[in-house]
Amino acid sequence: MNQFQYVRPTKAQAAIEAVAKDANATFIAGGTNLVDLMKRGIATPQKLVDINRLPLARIDHDPGKLRIGALALNSAVADDKQVRERQPLLALALNAGASAQLRNMATVGGNMLQRTRCSYFYDLTMPCNKREPGSGCGALEGINRMHAIFGFSDKCIAVHPSDMSVALVALDATVLVTGPKGERTIPFADFHRLPGDTPEKDTNLERGELITAVDIPDGPFTKHVHYQKVRERASYAFALLSVAAALDIENNTIKAARLAMGGVAHKPWRLTAAEQSLVGKPATEATFRQAAEVAMQGAKAFKHNAYKLKLAPNTIIQALKTAAAA
Ligand SMILES: Cc1cc2nc3c(=O)[nH]c(=O)nc-3n(C[C@H](O)[C@H](O)[C@H](O)COP(=O)(O)OP(=O)(O)OC[C@H]3O[C@@H](n4cnc5c(N)ncnc54)[C@H](O)[C@@H]3O)c2cc1C
Ligand code: SF4
Repeated sequence: MNQFQYVRPTKAQAAIEAVAKDANATFIAGGTNLVDLMKRGIATPQKLVDINRLPLARIDHDPGKLRIGALALNSAVADDKQVRERQPLLALALNAGASAQLRNMATVGGNMLQRTRCSYFYDLTMPCNKREPGSGCGALEGINRMHAIFGFSDKCIAVHPSDMSVALVALDATVLVTGPKGERTIPFADFHRLPGDTPEKDTNLERGELITAVDIPDGPFTKHVHYQKVRERASYAFALLSVAAALDIENNTIKAARLAMGGVAHKPWRLTAAEQSLVGKPATEATFRQAAEVAMQGAKAFKHNAYKLKLAPNTIIQALKTAAAA
């Protein structure tokens, strides 16, 4: 690992300034992704700004919304009684991610900003436009079985690995950010980016911007929810593909629906057209099959990931059936 300076500010403004003014400085929270990248020589910051002394770990149970601090641990959020009652989909997605030990270190902000698990990104001997812009994409003609079927470009076909973010995009969360230019809020759906010509940029955060919290508005999705994660072994593995499903059902008719997929695009993939197709229909397998068809419109596979074109609709149907039965 390269040598680096390490600072632990107690004020958000000092942390923001330290990163905004120095192109080689970066925030560190739980360190479960960043330290890994540093050990492998993929991230080479010269200054680590540890944000763990900032007061950003609270979970506020406000009327109408939950406000979850950026430093709240994944395990603390998943175990929080009000999160489980008001946003059970989020708790399910969090508990599907990583291992109990990792969830005890990983923070909400860090989880959203974890980098792709594309194996070419992790292999310094291979070309990767995300790691080294302009070097090419090893996955495009390589082993691309984990890769995207939506929203990719010829520069990058990687997927975003966070489980929590799939639930947050479905739940219409908002990200609260403070930076050199002040505070702003970013709708979760606009937080992560598609690769386009600049796959090195995972999100729309600007240099020095610190995530302070995530707001989740209350909704009717307190009962009929499910997070279905398909992975190669039962635990401790990233998703091949995942589906967050939430339904509001009255007299077997769907009044509202939320649907998002993970492991299929460079960002958590919200399925708004499929959601609309569900509303007003009976909560039956036929309805769910139609929604899955709508969801898959525009999907395109590469040499090794065509299985996702079948796996995705089947997982959507299964997730909706399980949510409806909950
Ligand atoms: C073996 C293994 C298995 C895993 N499996 C899964 C899985 O199945 N599902 C899943 O979702 N995740 C999984 N993870 C990933 C894990 O969830 C992430 O590593 C973790 O959430 C990152 O959080 P952190 O606080 O440790 O972030 P860090 O590593 O500290 O930081 C990650 C990035 O976020 C930035 N950052 C952190 N906080 C802020 C902030 N508040 N504002 C601005 N920038 C910030 C840092 O600068 C850094 O760039 C796994 C990880 C490992 C090692
Ligand atoms: S898919 Fe993206 S992350 Fe993977 S090698 Fe290509 S450019 Fe790099």
